[in-house]
Amino acid sequence: MGGGRQCLQSGVGDLQGDPVDTWACYSKDGRDLVKDWEQDKKRRNKSYVTVKNNEELDKVDPSTEFVLGIFANGHMSMDYARDKSPKGMPSLANMTQKGLDILAKNPRGYIFVVEGGLIDYAHHRGHARKALDETVSFSDAIQVALEKTDPQETLIIVTSDHSHSLVFSGYASRDSNILVNSTVSRDDPSVNNTRDFEYSQQAVVLTDEVTHGGSDVLVYAKGPMAHLFHTVHEQTYVAYVISYAAKIGPFKNGGLDTNPTTGTMLIKQLVKCNKRTFLVRYYSNRNILKLKERGMFQDIFPDTAA
Ligand SMILES: [Zn+2]
Repeated sequence: MGGGRQCLQSGVGDLQGDPVDTWACYSKDGRDLVKDWEQDKKRRNKSYVTVKNNEELDKVDPSTEFVLGIFANGHMSMDYARDKSPKGMPSLANMTQKGLDILAKNPRGYIFVVEGGLIDYAHHRGHARKALDETVSFSDAIQVALEKTDPQETLIIVTSDHSHSLVFSGYASRDSNILVNSTVSRDDPSVNNTRDFEYSQQAVVLTDEVTHGGSDVLVYAKGPMAHLFHTVHEQTYVAYVISYAAKIGPFKNGGLDTNPTTGTMLIKQLVKCNKRTFLVRYYSNRNILKLKERGMFQDIFPDTAA
């Protein structure tokens, strides 16, 4: 579920309230991947439904095996600007709710990925208000997930793939709005409407687009195996915890006590890496290789004895 019609179907035009998105890919190869997807389900005798707006999503029967929801030509609309009518686009929380209804029927469980992608999109334009507003929408979706799942059997992980460079500097008075907080300025923000959705906040370096930030991001987790997040972790560690908790991939057969190479070894390495990530993070890959050559990480990489 999401946007991307113009990437999946070739040569699509403007739709009402949803023009072709100039910030997204545009397919011109003549293929219709939505139709291909439907034909694949037909051929395999699976139940499926393709939906494009709120009313169609509402009507989806949770017993359906496959659902493809394409709600926008390019990116989804920011939540504040979204058409919330039956012909409009769902919120992240709406999609999370329906997704969980559909997945919950699987007795073997599921992995469900929900991305609040517009937080990033807003940050790239330096639009603080949109970024904050989309963070609230993301939070609403997490709330739905917390309410609709059993904490005894569902691991919920909330994190991000990177930070952004938005920081609030200066000494604001206690009651000031976060978006008008600035005692450091070049232009005079008091003559601008800094609460406007289209306002780009002041930046130290002026470019046409705001870059990602380099700071660490948070990992929140709740449910079984949540305790495996407990310190600074390399980002790939998140995927291993998911595999371990869901018993898939390298941990398909239970992990720890079954397959000694992919199970015990991997977890042992993860635990060791945990203790050392603060070291590794400050070296480039090249430097790590050099350090490995000198045997500095022998306990983490036992195959690289000096
Ligand atoms: Zn980005």
